[in-house]
Amino acid sequence: MNSQTLDHIRATIRDVPDFPKPGILFKDITPVLADPALLARTIDGMIDATGVLKVDKVVGIDARGFIFGALIAERLGAGFVPVRKKGKLPWMTRGVDYSLEYGTNSVEIHQDAIAPGETVLLADDLLATGGTAGAALTLIEQAGGKIVGSTFFIELSFLNGREKLRGHGPVHALISY
Ligand code: AMP
Repeated sequence: MNSQTLDHIRATIRDVPDFPKPGILFKDITPVLADPALLARTIDGMIDATGVLKVDKVVGIDARGFIFGALIAERLGAGFVPVRKKGKLPWMTRGVDYSLEYGTNSVEIHQDAIAPGETVLLADDLLATGGTAGAALTLIEQAGGKIVGSTFFIELSFLNGREKLRGHGPVHALISY
């Protein structure tokens, strides 16, 4: 992607201070989603960064990861698999708990969503501390999936989320802060 397009995407991401709580600078991606050309370039960029041409499944994380994951899956001719917050998936699940700054959270995947040996790309909107993505990667590995990488629209690199994803395949981000 040329640097002009990247700058345009970066300038379109809206910073919302103190959302959802004081001290958090929320990266609002909805203006990028609303622009047809920028949305298409963003999906292209998230795919190109991985170098992946073919994959069996793309896993997207609840909820904004569904948008990016599903669009990437469609482009790659892959299936899409949601990782959801605990209690949302209707069928038999496997789950994993992970720690947040305060307390814990749980995410789940359908037991039959990934077959052993299938190649899997993880997608989400934003890599912050890496807790959520790390949990999703654990679920993929428990299912026997072969992780080919993770792709994020945005990375908050000062939070060192990549450290938590170490050993789970290459990590890519289109925009880094
Ligand atoms: P983490 O588990 O800390 O890596 O958090 C990742 C998830 O939290 C992502 O799926 C984002 O949707 C959301 N998130 C965390 N921090 C921000 C932020 N500053 N702006 C927007 N979304 C965020």
